[in-house]
Amino acid sequence: MAPIPKTMSGILIEEVGGPEVLQWKTDLPVPELKDGEILVKNEYIGINYIDTYLRTGLYKAPLPLITGREAAGYVVASSSPDFKEGDRVAYLADHSYAEFTAVPDATAVIVPDDFSTEQAAAALLQGLTALTLIREAAGIKQQLGISEGPFVLVHAAAGGTGLLLVQILAVSGAKVIGTASTPEKLALAKENGAAWVINSKEEDVTARVKEITSGNGVDVIFDGVGKATFDADFDIIARKGTVISFGNASGAVGPVDLFKLTPKNAKLVRPTLYNYITTKEERREFTEELFDLISSGKVKLRIHDVYPLKDVARAHQDLEGRKTTGKLLLKV
Ligand code: NDP
Repeated sequence: MAPIPKTMSGILIEEVGGPEVLQWKTDLPVPELKDGEILVKNEYIGINYIDTYLRTGLYKAPLPLITGREAAGYVVASSSPDFKEGDRVAYLADHSYAEFTAVPDATAVIVPDDFSTEQAAAALLQGLTALTLIREAAGIKQQLGISEGPFVLVHAAAGGTGLLLVQILAVSGAKVIGTASTPEKLALAKENGAAWVINSKEEDVTARVKEITSGNGVDVIFDGVGKATFDADFDIIARKGTVISFGNASGAVGPVDLFKLTPKNAKLVRPTLYNYITTKEERREFTEELFDLISSGKVKLRIHDVYPLKDVARAHQDLEGRKTTGKLLLKV
């Protein structure tokens, strides 16, 4: 294996702001390994909406920052008994927008042989989010082949997380309604398992959901859009239903009046993936299920585009400009 250099290229944020604060650098120090860490040479880096929150300052992190939350590549040095040099891994850890990342071993997994490195980088964060939200937040367990499951609404159903939610929900027996902002995105949501689709820009979402559900509303709502959709969720939810608010693509949801829940005895959850995969067993169980769903072809990964790492600003612009469907990747 080639010797590890002292410096590397990557993307540094020195101040929060627009995509222009994502600066390409070629002289960043290669991170030093602590006990229990592996040094990964990243090949493909997954882009997630959270990367934009860290860039704009909606979520706080100390600066200067190498952002990025996931990638896949090869182990080039290991201080962990669980991994050795040459292992092909994917991981969920900070500072992935760079050539090399020091990764706590608990956050890494060996990439199965039937996955490309590109697929592994595209699968982990959004796939585990979709799966844990469905199994843990919504309590929908695997019920293959039955479509007598609950009515669910997925906002932004053609996005990275949205397309995975739709597919896993459909194979879990749920009756899926998806929203998206263009006819092309709606067609994609439908191809991936949404039985009904609603154009969120042109149609009255509440009225359409009521029509589809014979006036009852949906049992579960997956809402990663946030500010723009949150209030209407409580008109759309069925009696005893669950609103899962898991993101802020349109802005953060403000303080919530608890009495919003009373008319329907609704439940509200505001989860984050990391609290569902805290223990080793949880991580193993959900990762195995996700990889099985993909290997068996029940869930397909859609890669919108692979951008050179240097062009990450363009990728953020496309994501925030609602121009993308599925997963965005960076190639190192
Ligand atoms: P997406 O690929 O879904 O992109 C976001 C989508 O949101 C857009 O394509 C767009 O779809 C929709 N959208 C609606 N309004 C706006 C707006 N004003 N500006 C931009 N987009 C808008 O991104 P991700 O899959 O990466 O993330 C989806 C959501 O899931 C995010 O909120 C993210 O934070 C959250 N998330 C939360 C996690 C957690 O642990 N809680 C983990 C992972 C993701 P359209 O044009 O069709 O409306």
